[in-house]
Amino acid sequence: MIILKHIPDGIEEIIDYYGDPETDNEWFKKNMVVCKLPFALRQSWNGLRIDRFHVHKLVMDAMRDALIEIEEYAGIIFLRQHNLDMWGGVYADRNKRDSNVPSTHSWGIAIDYCPELGPFGDPSRMPYFVVKAFRRRGFTGLKYDGMHQAACSGY
Ligand SMILES: [Zn+2]
Repeated sequence: MIILKHIPDGIEEIIDYYGDPETDNEWFKKNMVVCKLPFALRQSWNGLRIDRFHVHKLVMDAMRDALIEIEEYAGIIFLRQHNLDMWGGVYADRNKRDSNVPSTHSWGIAIDYCPELGPFGDPSRMPYFVVKAFRRRGFTGLKYDGMHQAACSGY
């Protein structure tokens, strides 16, 4: 199993470890890589299948490994039949919802997995095998944002 090597806690540690996209013009080029997915995910907003996404280089291996576990546990047919192959995004240069501080998606260190099962503001209905695949590798979740699995804590 590939786990996160370090889980920065709070905004200062996040910037120390993952860099600062707000002040470093070269940040994207230096830190973002393309992850080829172990199985196709469907974009939650239009249903289109993707086979890769951009993610922070320090997070890619553990995030990909979590997806491998999800697919090995449930099987791709089950995932598709139950809409458990839905993807709400990883990298997005945006603020946290209802806030003026950057979202962890601005660093490409969080994945929104199956947004419909863990909608912002509501209790999560995410199956435990999905949550577990991320938790075992060090990803943390947020209360009332069940889709969101982040490679940091305290932010
Ligand atoms: Zn998110």
